[in-house]
Amino acid sequence: MKLHSGARVAVAGAGALGTAVALRLARACFKVTVFDPAAPGDNASGVAAGMLAPVSEALFDPASRGHLAIMRRARDLWATFALELNIPLARAGVRFEGSEAWRGEVGARLAALGLPDTDVTTEDWRLEAQPALAAMRVAAEAAGARFETGVVEAFAPGALTLADGRTEAFDVLVLATGPGLRDGHLAPETKVLAPIKGQILRVSGEVGNVVVRGEGVYLAPGEDLAIGATMEVGRDDLAPDASATRGLRAAAWGLRPDLDLDAAKVEVGVRVTTPDGLPLVGWSRTPGVMLAVGARRNGWLFAPLVADMVAAYLNGDNLDPDAIAMDARRFEKSEA
Ligand SMILES: Cc1cc2nc3c(=O)[nH]c(=O)nc-3n(C[C@H](O)[C@H](O)[C@H](O)COP(=O)(O)OP(=O)(O)OC[C@H]3O[C@@H](n4cnc5c(N)ncnc54)[C@H](O)[C@@H]3O)c2cc1C
Repeated sequence: MKLHSGARVAVAGAGALGTAVALRLARACFKVTVFDPAAPGDNASGVAAGMLAPVSEALFDPASRGHLAIMRRARDLWATFALELNIPLARAGVRFEGSEAWRGEVGARLAALGLPDTDVTTEDWRLEAQPALAAMRVAAEAAGARFETGVVEAFAPGALTLADGRTEAFDVLVLATGPGLRDGHLAPETKVLAPIKGQILRVSGEVGNVVVRGEGVYLAPGEDLAIGATMEVGRDDLAPDASATRGLRAAAWGLRPDLDLDAAKVEVGVRVTTPDGLPLVGWSRTPGVMLAVGARRNGWLFAPLVADMVAAYLNGDNLDPDAIAMDARRFEKSEA
């Protein structure tokens, strides 16, 4: 399906994926409107630590172990994407700290990935999530995209229906709803998505300019020190839960006993994942619906790549080899 320039595109969801898609499509001369009921940044994208971390993800998230190459390509797109939007990228990298046994295990995993066994890698970058999201939104609006409050409920080519009963004319709907709309009524492919609740602690404290990765925890410098994050599989509530963050606190104290974690603010977000850890990007079986969901722990990392892919699909020329790996219909047999 190739859209003409000026075609009307609705984007459901103003997180990192929806906003990056809106920016990319508005710049490609589509008429873009983003709908989201939440306040800007009140989503997983706003809670995230903002790491663009192919190496750490391949090392510490088993679902991402096989995706180092595609994650590196996604990170590389950030260099230009961030520069154009004046989003500062911290590129000092990540340092691995921990017991001899754990550090040995990290060394073995680095070797298995074909990487040198060093304490610091500068392959992983970082940004501040909230300001980055705001910068993307400003740029999208400057390129002509509109942002409206609204819950997307239904779509048929030509007509988008919102929960408040409004119906508006659109040619295509891009679903970038994160943990929303997983029941499959808008796109059956979303039934494979599973939620993973994540709690992150924010506290004042210094670890230098690199992210510190220890066993079961990271300490990411920034406006606050971000200490994360829990992986609570199957949960999609946003209630802070001290029993789940106990391990995180213990691991952080193990690395930096002077941290005042009793003063930490707890923030909660819900990521969604596919069975293979890569997002669903591409046309749904539902006519006119394009998916950009399920980025697991890597929604920030993947945002420019996903935005480029969606633009390529709408321009009818998606030849990107990564598009096959993220194809929205690759789990069709397991949707039921
Ligand atoms: C604690 C934590 C730390 C993280 N750290 C990192 C990190 O360091 N690096 C990284 O790359 N990723 C990180 N992530 C993952 C990342 O946050 C997600 O992958 C990313 O935010 C997903 O972006 P999204 O746009 O798909 O979804 P979201 O940010 O969840 O946004 C979805 C939006 O859709 C809206 N919506 C839902 N339903 C509807 C509807 N029916 N109509 C209209 N709008 C709707 C919601 O209101 C929401 O605003 C982290 C996540 C958590 C929870």
